[in-house]
Order: sequence, then C-alpha cells, then structure tokens
Amino acid sequence: MHYLVLSDIHANYTALEAALDAAKGRWERPVCLGDIVGYGPDPNEVIDRVRALGATVIRGNHDKAASGVADAEDFNPVARAAATWTREQLRPDNLAFLQQLPPGPIEADGLALVHGALHDEDEYVFAPAQALNGLLESPSPVTCFGHTHFQGGFSFHHDKLEVIQLRPEPGASFAALRVEPGTRYLLNPGSIGQPRDGDPRAAFAIADMDHKVIEFWRVPYDIEAVQQRMLQAGLPEPLILRLAYGR
Ligand code: ZN
Repeated sequence: MHYLVLSDIHANYTALEAALDAAKGRWERPVCLGDIVGYGPDPNEVIDRVRALGATVIRGNHDKAASGVADAEDFNPVARAAATWTREQLRPDNLAFLQQLPPGPIEADGLALVHGALHDEDEYVFAPAQALNGLLESPSPVTCFGHTHFQGGFSFHHDKLEVIQLRPEPGASFAALRVEPGTRYLLNPGSIGQPRDGDPRAAFAIADMDHKVIEFWRVPYDIEAVQQRMLQAGLPEPLILRLAYGR
C-alpha cells in the first residue's frame, strides 16, 4: 500500500493541486494529518478537494478553531484573524465536515496518524525530547505527525534517538528514507500550504509500506497567485509574505 500523506494544507488550493499533480498515479490511499484550513484563501475549495479524495482525515488546531470546536484564544492575533475570516467563508456542509473530524491518534494499516504530539494534538514536536514519548508509545512503528510545518522527523533504535532531516536536492522532487526493521519513526511530511522550514515549495510524503520506503517530496507552485487571492480577501500581511520565504 502506498499512502499519500498530506498535512497542514491551510486552505492553499494552488499548493494542494501542485502536490496532487506531482503525486499522480503513485498512491492508493490518501491520509491527511489536519489543519486543512486556516491562514490561506481557499477553505471551501480545499475541503471539497480533500473530501473528493476520500482521504482519512484527523483534525488540527486550525480546523477546530475555524469550525468552533475550540476557541482561538491561544492563537496569536494574526492566526485568530485568519480563523475568524475562515469561519465566515465556510459553507454549512464544509463547516459540518470540519466539526466531525476525529482527533488523532488513529491507525491506518501500520501507520499511526497524529496532528501534534501523540498524547496532545495541540502540542508541537520540534526537539528530540518532545519526540521521545511518541516514538516509544505509539501503537505503530511508523507514526506521521504534522503541526510544526517542518519536513523530517525522528527515529529510535537501540536506545538511540536520531533526528531525520531529508530534503530533496535542488531540482529533485523527493528524498527517500528506508524504514529499517526494529526502528521506530516519527515522521512529518511537511506542510502543503505554509512550509516553515525555509523551503517555500509544497511538502508532502508518499509512504510505500510494502517496500518500507518513505519519500519526502517538495513541489514548486504559483505562490504569487495565492498571495494575490490572500490580498483580495484581506488576510493579514505577515501570512501573505511568509509564503515566499517558507518561514
Ligand atoms: Zn498547521
């Protein structure tokens, strides 16, 4: 089984389409680790596309805030403004779709899916110390997480925790990681719609669980077109500018 692993699409339809184009014919089962909406200008278009894919989806903090499942109290003012704007745009059926999304972790044939940390969907996993619980306690040897918008992750083998940073070479579409027996993994496919690891290209992963290979993809997209729609929508300027830098 080849999984298409999407995360943190953040209402960026152009980036999602570029990713789906690049991944065409290479996967059988799509999964999404949450934050379908928030920040970006295309909430309904992105939800429609994810629903049409038939993806297994768990919720992210922005899905909760935009749909009223949680308040946006802990959001910074810019994120809160985007959440409010998003809520105003949502069609009733898409609002209902966001509201019924389950929290992680859930298991999908050998892969565990979470948005943030294993035991707290809203917690960020940036550092090895934050990854340890997830690595040790996840129901699956391979766990996919999102939330940080950083592509890469962590592995644990014989009491040794390692940071995994795989980035496709400039000009290449993906970098591959071999899943070794007896090793546990916490892997972030990166963010489709708002990368923050310094590479502005849309990020996702394809997990080939038969051959135990995970590909970490980066795909360029028309960033200016998205920035133009954000400007027209009146979304906060810092959110518009950061897309160009991937920060
Ligand atoms: Zn996010």
